[in-house]
Amino acid sequence: MATNKELAELIFPDVKETVKDLDKRFPPRTLPEGAEVTRFAPSPTGFLHTGSLFTAMIAHKFANQSNGIYFFRLEDTDQKREIQGTGLDLVKQLKNFGIVSDEGYFGDHEEGAYAPYTQSKRAEIYKIVIKDLIKRGRAYPCFCTKDDLDDLRAVQEANKVIPGYYGEYARCRHLSLDEMIANIKAGKPYVIRFKSKGNHLEHVRVHDEIRGDMDLSQNDQDIVIYKSDGLPTYHFAHLVDDHYMGTTLVTRGEEWISSLPIHIELFEAMGWKAPKYAHLPVIMVNDKETHNKRKLSKRKDPEAAVSFFLEQGYPKEGVIKYLMTIANSNFEAWLLENPKADLKEFKLSFEKFSLDGALFDMPKLCNISKEVLANYDKTTFTDQCLAWAEEYSEELASLIKRDRPYFESIINIERDQEKPRKDYEKFSDVLEKVRLFYADEFDKLLAKGELPFNDNIQKEVIASVLEDFVSTLDLKNQDENTWFAEMKVLGTRHGFADDRKVYKKDPTSYVGWYADCISIVRVALCCSTQSPKLFDVLTLLGEEEIKRRVAEVLKTL
Ligand code: GLU
Repeated sequence: MATNKELAELIFPDVKETVKDLDKRFPPRTLPEGAEVTRFAPSPTGFLHTGSLFTAMIAHKFANQSNGIYFFRLEDTDQKREIQGTGLDLVKQLKNFGIVSDEGYFGDHEEGAYAPYTQSKRAEIYKIVIKDLIKRGRAYPCFCTKDDLDDLRAVQEANKVIPGYYGEYARCRHLSLDEMIANIKAGKPYVIRFKSKGNHLEHVRVHDEIRGDMDLSQNDQDIVIYKSDGLPTYHFAHLVDDHYMGTTLVTRGEEWISSLPIHIELFEAMGWKAPKYAHLPVIMVNDKETHNKRKLSKRKDPEAAVSFFLEQGYPKEGVIKYLMTIANSNFEAWLLENPKADLKEFKLSFEKFSLDGALFDMPKLCNISKEVLANYDKTTFTDQCLAWAEEYSEELASLIKRDRPYFESIINIERDQEKPRKDYEKFSDVLEKVRLFYADEFDKLLAKGELPFNDNIQKEVIASVLEDFVSTLDLKNQDENTWFAEMKVLGTRHGFADDRKVYKKDPTSYVGWYADCISIVRVALCCSTQSPKLFDVLTLLGEEEIKRRVAEVLKTL
């Protein structure tokens, strides 16, 4: 009679190391009290989903706030779905958001005592653990073909029983060791399955850090742990990696809750302590057509890809702060009280976690971003804006670099004050808003045509207001108040009322009121009816440029 040991040796003749050797190679970590070891474990399938950024942010934060370790593991065991080279992109994109690993896979290299952190490079490690399970009769080879499994499903559907490979339906678990050995020797292809001891009619109590205790049906499926390509499945890699990498807290999407009984049973079978689990809510949106809640989708929603925020130039701090509002219900109130505080000062907690699939709220993200950008000082704003522009807008980058102090003065308008002006939501808004401050850009705007002057005011009046404005301009001796008072008087010389109420009472006696008069100056200097505070615009442009612009505008009237 053959033994489990013989079977294990036949399957893995070259695997000489044992689980004990692995225990020595990857000893437990020594950590400060309360420190959590967390990880982000994406598959390199092409792009970073906003939901994945959320997951990574949470893992990073829990490690950081507990003086623990956060690492990045590349889960590339599904080689059919893998897109080569995208692991590095994931690392880079996370770095953009300040999520940098303490150890793990870094795209071009790996760092840390628990390496390798790329699953396809860990094949030998998985084999050692599988060999151990086979030796102990807790795993076995399964020779069922795809057709066999299809037939099994058909039978189970007809009998209206739970589908899957378990109990009496797990055909290969009932083969004798001799039969298994004969099949392998005959060259029959196989996978390796875990031999479950569970019963789905019984419950297992599992704990989720967000949801608390849950009673779920025990696992009784003999899941595949080792595929014919020599790599493990997710479940098995999770067991081995999170054990040997010393993960204390697994934060992952809630789609994994239903697999928890499998994972608990795998840890039990190895006699290992399972990590804590926190299953994070999935980010949802309201579908514009059906008005139903659905998952944020790569195909339908641009904001599902993190690259969207990077390309548009949303400040990374704005995106992260927004995602924190999804994570913890008390974060928004904290943010209102501490708009300038470092995020490190906020303590993320599982008690305050929102459980319902959080709705992605783009207007809220935009507001938070505006607030973040308004609260930056001019240097921080310019540094970040330039870094963005160097990648995404050559035109803006060259404007900034032409005269950085000038650019800083432009974006500093109404910034250094108690309630800073919220001009910008993202860096891609900047170019259009600063253009007017540059002489050559102004000329281009002017050449494009139509100045949006008020149609009700005659051209002659516009011209004489502008002429009067430049001839009385004396910025050296004017401050905002004196200039404004003089503009009111100037207006009266051209038929404008110096008081709104007076004008409203008797509009036919006036050309307009003083705001209409000032608007003429604004349109002439900015080619727009809107601008930052006009006096700031005047100061930045300087008298010479103001006069040049007015002369150019007068030619077009
Ligand atoms: N690779 C898995 C995923 O992308 C990781 C889940 C986990 O964090 O354990 O869903």
